[in-house]
Amino acid sequence: MKKRTVAFSKNSSNLFFHILTKCNLSCKHCYINKDQHGDNTLDIETIKDWLNLFSNKNKQTNLIFLGGEPTLHPDLFLAVKHAKKIGFKSVTIDTNGYLFHDILDKITCDEVDFISFSLDGATRETNDSIRGQGSYDQCLAGIKETVSKGFSTSMIYTVSKDNIDELLMMPDLVKSLNIERFFIQVIGIRGESSKTDPKRNQVSNQVSKEKWLEFVPKIAEQIAQQGIIVTYPKVFLNNDKKFECAALVSDNFFVFPNGRVYQCPICEDFPLHSFEIKNNQLVETEKINEKNFFRLSIPEGCVMNKLIQPDNLSYNKDGDSEYKIACCMLKQELRL
Ligand code: SF4
Ligand code: SF4
Repeated sequence: MKKRTVAFSKNSSNLFFHILTKCNLSCKHCYINKDQHGDNTLDIETIKDWLNLFSNKNKQTNLIFLGGEPTLHPDLFLAVKHAKKIGFKSVTIDTNGYLFHDILDKITCDEVDFISFSLDGATRETNDSIRGQGSYDQCLAGIKETVSKGFSTSMIYTVSKDNIDELLMMPDLVKSLNIERFFIQVIGIRGESSKTDPKRNQVSNQVSKEKWLEFVPKIAEQIAQQGIIVTYPKVFLNNDKKFECAALVSDNFFVFPNGRVYQCPICEDFPLHSFEIKNNQLVETEKINEKNFFRLSIPEGCVMNKLIQPDNLSYNKDGDSEYKIACCMLKQELRL
């Protein structure tokens, strides 16, 4: 088993492109916040223009089409073809499994590197309680159809208090699905999840360090033993480990259809974006924005985590931080 930390690098970048915010589901933890991200759908010409904006580094940029539900966009297939034509390193579509507009019949396996499905429970009951009735069956049906058509397929499981116990069942569930990659994500306190933020006198849905470490590395290893590449965020760093903010060392852009461009996903619930796309130009926003925070060095690691979702921090009796929270972009990868 090969284990490696996927370090940030200037030589690789990621473009997370939300082409619309509309969705057919209303997941309990949906991170889309229409007050911040707008409710418009970009037309195909604008999508192409915006892709071109980021095309100076496209040979080293992984592009991920997101929504809302990106397959609700009738021209997604044209966006995929354009992205491939201008040479992005890889093209991924993240979907909830409904695969609208016959997307699989309009693109080829050469044009898209991965179709990635979100499933948030090993059982219908748990997944559907989070993502909505019928979404479990639809997601699994979508995976089967996608695999049968020869596309490379991955799965994303967003861990929260609601579903961490069901990670135990995931190795058996994925065995029969022929997916190539499995991503474990940690729930972020933004969008719908921020409505359970403890600052609003409710209980956060983030899992404790103990629970995360009890489940995630073990299950990741079991799934990787099946030949599936597994990636999960490190989240908790011992105090002697080096902390780095991805925004300072690599290029990650989170683009929304209202033109906001963030470098840090944790900031997405706030008007802290570093850039805006105006008249098809990427322009820096005025301060204060997220960039003012990236260089701040605090014992707790990620400064935005402390400001926005501090429920995952812990202090000893002297008030010292017991560990650091890693950058949410720092991943552990397991492969045979
Ligand atoms: S999390 Fe994704 S699938 Fe669920 S409502 Fe939000 S955009 Fe739709
Ligand atoms: S999550 Fe924290 S460390 Fe990572 S980019 Fe955002 S501010 Fe930087």
